[in-house]
Amino acid sequence: MSSIIIIENGEIYSPASLGRANLMLGGSDILKIGDISPADVKGIDFDVIDASGKLVIPGLIDNHVHICGGGGEGGFRTRTPEISLTDITKAGITTLIGVLGTDGTTRTMTNLIAKANGLEEEGITCRVLTGSYQIPVRTATGSITDDIILIDKIIGTGEIALADHRSSHPDLSRLAAVVSDSRLGGILSGKSGIVNIHMGDSRRTIEMLLKLLEETEIPPSQLLPTHMNRNPYLFEKALDYALQGGFVDFTTSTTKQFIEEGEVSAAKALKRMIDRGIPAERITFSSDGQGSLPQFDSAGRMTGLGIGSVSSLWNAVVQAVREEGIDFETALGTVTANPASLYRLAGKGQLREGWDADMVIVDRETLAVETVIAKGKVMVKNGEPLVRGTFE
Ligand code: ZN
Repeated sequence: MSSIIIIENGEIYSPASLGRANLMLGGSDILKIGDISPADVKGIDFDVIDASGKLVIPGLIDNHVHICGGGGEGGFRTRTPEISLTDITKAGITTLIGVLGTDGTTRTMTNLIAKANGLEEEGITCRVLTGSYQIPVRTATGSITDDIILIDKIIGTGEIALADHRSSHPDLSRLAAVVSDSRLGGILSGKSGIVNIHMGDSRRTIEMLLKLLEETEIPPSQLLPTHMNRNPYLFEKALDYALQGGFVDFTTSTTKQFIEEGEVSAAKALKRMIDRGIPAERITFSSDGQGSLPQFDSAGRMTGLGIGSVSSLWNAVVQAVREEGIDFETALGTVTANPASLYRLAGKGQLREGWDADMVIVDRETLAVETVIAKGKVMVKNGEPLVRGTFE
């Protein structure tokens, strides 16, 4: 394909509806949205993608993916595998944020950064957070602040575990120090410096976060607690937290058993938040892709281990629209503009002239992902990957 691509006749959602329009992409950018006249492309070699009957949306952003694999809660053989390029692109995702997870010993920051660099070389956008579940945070340089300022790929900290038996059970001052260091790194480098918080199943739920916001000067936008839909009592607290100005992330990977046991699906969680009048901009979805999903029997014995999938991200958006009746723009925002704005991902999350040419063409009726473009390059066409990872 030539480096100029014109996408014709699609209905554009930026995620706000822009109506029917054409897009011209050049290099890795969106050059123009609107009427593209012959004069715009005179003497230039270009390719045309016909998007009649399709929606054109921003490339999806998955803000929490175990790109190197995660898990290991059932011993070494339960360490989950790393992600491959086409797992990501076939799911409509063009930007992701990689995290380590439970294990900060056999999973390291150097490995995480190398994997992120590899995914970038393969054509998508990847950032990472420093640390794992634990405090003190094991960083790349020895300091959270330095990691964020000095290492291009690192844009925040996490996932730090709270209210979980696998957490370090930090007291308020230790947690506050981590969040402050991360915030300072963000301020000095023009990044978000957000701390992504893994919320566990403990009845303590968001106690610590509320204390942190009450007793320090840290603004709510510095924290993104995730898995806030994992059980009914945490979800009730998530409602309160968001009503007080907090940002919340809902995990889309799940199992039938988790839902039967009371997990609130991300789609339902979004619906209940909106019904309570919470601004949708405070809500993001992430897949927890490649994370482990351990299953336990009634005696607490592990009976199986599933694995999170990035494909759940778009499925949850479709479910929110189809089954919960949420309007398309609002549902789409949770995986595009909202995470881009919260994590300060420049040029990402919206279709705008001069912004990155990351987009997905979906069928208007089925909402199936058909064509995926990352940084101006067609990665998936009609559901089939054109670009594969190095070892795929
Ligand atoms: Zn987690």
